[in-house]
Amino acid sequence: EPAIDTAFMRRWLDTAATAIDRESKQLSDLDSPIGDGDHGTNMRRGFLAARTAIEQEPPDTPGGVLVALGRQLISKVGGASGPLYGTLFRRAGKELGDDRAVSAAQLRDGLRAGVDAVAKLGGAVPGDKTMLDALLPALDALTGALDAGGSAADALAAAAGAADEGVRATVPLRARKGRASYLGERSVGHQDPGATSSALLINTLADTAK
Ligand code: ADP
Ligand code: MG
Ligand code: MG
Repeated sequence: EPAIDTAFMRRWLDTAATAIDRESKQLSDLDSPIGDGDHGTNMRRGFLAARTAIEQEPPDTPGGVLVALGRQLISKVGGASGPLYGTLFRRAGKELGDDRAVSAAQLRDGLRAGVDAVAKLGGAVPGDKTMLDALLPALDALTGALDAGGSAADALAAAAGAADEGVRATVPLRARKGRASYLGERSVGHQDPGATSSALLINTLADTAK
C-alpha cells in the first residue's frame, strides 16, 4: 500500500495527464454528437498545463497538488468542464489541508467535498447525464469498500469499477444539464463525455494505488 503523500499525488497527476492526452480524441469524439466536440482538447490543455505548473513549482503536500491542479483547470479550460473539474480538485485539495500524507478515509472525505461542490455549482443531480453519474457511484463504492474494512487499493479499484458502470449507464439517459441538454431527446443513446473523463481519472487513481 503506497502512502497517499505528495509523491503519490504527483504520480497520479502524471498518469492522469498521460491518459487524458491519449484519450483526448475519444473524449472529443463523444462530445461531437451531443456537444461541441471539444471535451478532449479542453481536458488535455488543462491537465498538461497543470503537470507543467506543478513541475515548475512543486507543492509539498498532496492537498497542494490537487489545489494547483484545480487552479490550472479553472484558468486554462473554458466551457463547463473547466470550472466544474477545477472546483472539484480545488475543494478536495483544501479539504486535505496541510497534511504531508493522508489516509484513504481523508482522501474519500476530500473527494466527497469536491463532488458536493461540483453538484452545488452545476446544479446537476444523479441521472442528468453528467460527470456526476460517474463520480457519485464511485464515491459510494469507495465509501462502502472502506467501511467494510477494505484497503485503499481495493476501495479505489471498486470505485473505478463503479465509475465505469456509471459511464455505461449514461448512454440511455436524456441530458438535463450542459450543452447536451439543448438536444433534449436526441441526447439519448450517447455516452456522456464528462462522465467518461471522470471514470478515466478515477481509474488512474486506482492504478496509482496498486
Ligand atoms: P462544454 O460543454 O462547455 O463544451 P466540455 O465539453 O469540456 O464543456 O464538458 C462537457 C461535460 O461537462 C459534459 O459531458 C458533462 O459531463 C459536464 N457537464 C456539463 N454541465 C454540467 C453540470 N451542470 N454539472 C455537471 N457536469 C456538467
Ligand atoms: Mg464541449
Ligand atoms: Mg465547449
